[in-house]
Amino acid sequence: MFSSLALTQVLPYLPLAQGDIDYGVDRRADPRLIGNVLREAGTSVVLTRAGLLAVPFGQCALVRQSAAHMRLATLPGAYVADALPHHPEVKAIYLGAYHGAQSQHVVALDVSDVVVDPVGGDDARRVDDAFDEADTAHDVHDSIFASAVARFDWVDLRGFAPRASAREIGQATTMLALSNWYAYQRHCPHCGYPVEQAMSGWAQRCTNAEDDFRVLFPRVEPAVIMTVVDAQDRLLIQHNRAWKNPLMYSVSAGFVEAGENLEHACRRETFEETGVRVGEVKYLGSQPWPYKISLMMGFKGQALNTDVHVDGEEVSDARWVTRDEYTELLVTGQIEVPGKATIARVMIEEWYGREI
Ligand SMILES: [Zn+2]
Repeated sequence: MFSSLALTQVLPYLPLAQGDIDYGVDRRADPRLIGNVLREAGTSVVLTRAGLLAVPFGQCALVRQSAAHMRLATLPGAYVADALPHHPEVKAIYLGAYHGAQSQHVVALDVSDVVVDPVGGDDARRVDDAFDEADTAHDVHDSIFASAVARFDWVDLRGFAPRASAREIGQATTMLALSNWYAYQRHCPHCGYPVEQAMSGWAQRCTNAEDDFRVLFPRVEPAVIMTVVDAQDRLLIQHNRAWKNPLMYSVSAGFVEAGENLEHACRRETFEETGVRVGEVKYLGSQPWPYKISLMMGFKGQALNTDVHVDGEEVSDARWVTRDEYTELLVTGQIEVPGKATIARVMIEEWYGREI
């Protein structure tokens, strides 16, 4: 018999689990909240579009530099407050506040549905000028969001997270998770009517009176990921067919099935993919994974056998490695490790005993 789950969080720091912001949950129901905080001087406005994050123009190139620092681009809150009512295609989210001498609020804009003139031209590329000149209020309303799309650089969270502050990683992760959910669910799953935003961006409301304007909350898809070790503390690493990089070796992972608990999912996935049976399962930590709407929960499993039989469909290779063998594979370039934003990287480092 095995204890079902040891609830000791081994990994206190995970790259995408950076929640020092006060969500201000009790304020979300106020429909004026976003409009009001946008007019406060300390409010910052950050943007996401189709799974990407807005960073200042020119920062895209930093993704290739490991030591570079990246930050989220921002728009002036007062301009956004004026323009938002004219642009229902822009979805605003109240991310929360940091409390110091003065509360600093953060509002995120999902501009995925903003249509940008493919020709562009000077007007679309000069968002700063739009703020300075502001010929008429109407011109600014028409251009501010489209200009932001054209003017800022847009990067993936995997490129942003290793180079950004913990606070901004947290902001980015939350807005991506909500934006991905909006893209995924545009109609009420109960009656099929279109949905609109509710609760300052944290929920949706069905527009059908006969469905009582049902409030819908974000769906989160639970997934497990496991470092599996044997009696000699060797690690089971594997390459999945879906990974484009042929040198990428990581650990077993998969979605939790209906009616299944977490430790069962760990044992089932490992056995399906590698033929290795797992006994005791220990919780390591969790982090959101906004590709699209997952929550990754990390575990360490103790193997009961060491014979490896990969399924050949999802996994093409799996093998046991000692720390010395793992080091040798890394330094000779025979394998590569998962990216720094991933929980897999931190879990492998936990086994390895130090940063890679
Ligand atoms: Zn409905």
